[in-house]
Amino acid sequence: MLKQQRQESPLAINRRTFCTSTLAGLAGCALPPVFNATTYAHTFNRAANDLKIVDIKRTTVKVPYRPAPQRAMDRELPHWRYSEVFEVTLQSGHVGFGETLLYYTWGVTEDDDVARVQGKNAADVMWDDELGAGLQMALFDAVARAADVPVHRLLGHQVNGKTPLSWWNIDMATDDMLSECQEAYRQGYLAYKTKGRPWFDLWDQVSTVAGKLPGKFKVDMDFNDTLLDAKRGIPILKELEQYPHIDIYETPIPQGDIAGNQAICKATRVSIAMHYGSPDPLVALRNDICDGFIIGGGASRVIKRGSVCEMADKPFWLQLVGTGITAAWSLHFGAVLSHATWPAVNCHQLYQHQLLKTPIRVKDGFAQIPTGPGLGYELDQEAIARYRVKKPAARPDPPRLMETTWKDGRVMYTANTGKVNFMLGPGQVGKIPYYERGVNTRLLPNDGSRRWKKLYQASRQGPVVYKP
Ligand SMILES: [Mg+2]
Repeated sequence: MLKQQRQESPLAINRRTFCTSTLAGLAGCALPPVFNATTYAHTFNRAANDLKIVDIKRTTVKVPYRPAPQRAMDRELPHWRYSEVFEVTLQSGHVGFGETLLYYTWGVTEDDDVARVQGKNAADVMWDDELGAGLQMALFDAVARAADVPVHRLLGHQVNGKTPLSWWNIDMATDDMLSECQEAYRQGYLAYKTKGRPWFDLWDQVSTVAGKLPGKFKVDMDFNDTLLDAKRGIPILKELEQYPHIDIYETPIPQGDIAGNQAICKATRVSIAMHYGSPDPLVALRNDICDGFIIGGGASRVIKRGSVCEMADKPFWLQLVGTGITAAWSLHFGAVLSHATWPAVNCHQLYQHQLLKTPIRVKDGFAQIPTGPGLGYELDQEAIARYRVKKPAARPDPPRLMETTWKDGRVMYTANTGKVNFMLGPGQVGKIPYYERGVNTRLLPNDGSRRWKKLYQASRQGPVVYKP
């Protein structure tokens, strides 16, 4: 059962609108001009050597979070501040840029990836996902600039003139979540994606936001398995869905629980989203365990998976995470993938700066597909210089201690353990008390006291609950 898609149907671009050149006109518009003598195919033919990669510059930046995201991200994800920016220069003189969010990416670009492509024709290697996020993005940008076409012309045939974007935050205290939703709405967003977590009061979060924002502003919640099973999860999902704002639930219980996910799909009007690939997409489709997917990864993978969704007629959202650089890259996939109709999660709203000279604008939930050459946005070199840091040798993991409190006086302390998802992990296997009203969580700053040190040490193997 395919639930009604929230977004209006993709704005189909009539092929005629692309027929701007005289030659194309003479040819009777048989093909979009992307294949005509006036565009890049012809340019490439004449000057393939121009695409030779002559320089690859790498700069690590540490981009500050805005205040509300900072309060939340400092608990579990302080390391998302680090991005590596790539600038690839071609023999033609064109420079393309891209980035890798160093500690949350589908693929880091390693030194040997850089060495492997030096001197090669950029168009020959750009589809290789093994190159990692930043280098691949920069290669596409450089080639598109050399061809004087937007990146999406290299990715496929444009079917959308605009693409939906979602604001993103990790789980946060209700007042911060409210102010972030209000800011998202003010900036033209109509979707807010966040986490559902047993250490925050879901009911309070959702009712507070619903009380202040119009019903057309949608809140999508990713539970990352933490509702554990259909029996316990469904009553909560049903309570939340009373608010028209609630639109998509992601991974409420483990994605491999076929019967449980079928039961959830049946029980709720809210769409269920799953990360593509787990379980095998054929299993997911045959068993009808979700209404749509989440797709990320390299250019080849995203295009292939997006095509499967088109074949299966399932909506998905693009999940390509980084600063504005990655968000700009994501827009181009939104241009060519017909079923990218759920709002994209790029997370660039977290940062004080998007690293672009002009920010990506959103209106009525959508961003326009860039029409300029390459990514269609320019790198802000001043910002790059300002945030430049030495590349960390390993993921920065400063000591953190979280305090979770319940109404009956229970208190839980959770410390970082050296692994990512040190708080989510126990929550995914039921080692954190289940969802309840009145629960709250905050980062407990290290005040240098013996008490802090003791609590921190005691919870380094996993969350510890103290009863009153
Ligand atoms: Mg997710």
